[in-house]
Amino acid sequence: MPAGRHRLVLSVDLDEWFHSRRWTDGVQTQAIPDMAALLRRLYGSDRPGGELVAPTRALLDLFDRHQVKCTFFVLGEVAEWYPDLVREIAARGHEIGCHGFHHVDMTVLGPDQFAAQLDRAVSILTPLAGRAPIGYRAPNLVYAPWATRVLESRGFAYDTTVCVSRPIGGKYKGWANAPHHPYHPSYDDVSKPGDARLVELPLPSFPGIKLSAGSGILTRVIGYHWTMTSLRYRIRSGDTGFYFHPWEVAERPAAAGRTWRGALFYRHTGRWMLGAVDRILTHFRGRVVTAREAAGA
Ligand SMILES: [Zn+2]
Repeated sequence: MPAGRHRLVLSVDLDEWFHSRRWTDGVQTQAIPDMAALLRRLYGSDRPGGELVAPTRALLDLFDRHQVKCTFFVLGEVAEWYPDLVREIAARGHEIGCHGFHHVDMTVLGPDQFAAQLDRAVSILTPLAGRAPIGYRAPNLVYAPWATRVLESRGFAYDTTVCVSRPIGGKYKGWANAPHHPYHPSYDDVSKPGDARLVELPLPSFPGIKLSAGSGILTRVIGYHWTMTSLRYRIRSGDTGFYFHPWEVAERPAAAGRTWRGALFYRHTGRWMLGAVDRILTHFRGRVVTAREAAGA
């Protein structure tokens, strides 16, 4: 591909706002969550309140206006709660990837539970999408070396979890020297090139200082130019990526409460973030692709 025509891999993690609550209330949800208890506490019900639907539809409309397709990484439990929404995303031409079943760090699950939850998620997603997912992103961007072989054994063609960043908050350890553009990882270390069949689509960091920049959370909390400077720099030498969540283009949910951590974490959600995504799509017009396309799958 000629220089300057590299591509922006656009993806959305179809999470509920409470899947990220570790950042706002300090609860370490990398431990296996008791989702039933959480839903009862938040909604007095065994299912969530439906806050996910409206912002997801707003995004689908925005993507239609820009005539772009993107990849939605969907949790098995989210697909169980919102099967019609997942069907609609697929029917509108977007790729359905897998984000696991529960939003739990795979290092907590271990290989057997990880594989079992992956299989359960795939069995729910496949009929809704009309095809089996071939792409994966790990909850909380936490990856274990054994995951590559498990993903390959289930027919996955790519992963997009590695963020080429210095460690932040205990994450991304050892990833700062990973390749900045798509590569085949080593079976021993996903951040090193090797002979895995799987393709890794790494997420970008800010040039020079190498701090995570390709996530909507950083766009909102640090600023639009943090992300844009990074994307414009990284795309000069190869394909790069940007991802965010539907709850980021929605108003802050009432059930999230009011804490100082929340004030920071929910900064610029709603119209500001929808506008930022609109500007990113305008800037990279003609270069936005799904993760499936970027992986050459
Ligand atoms: Zn997630």
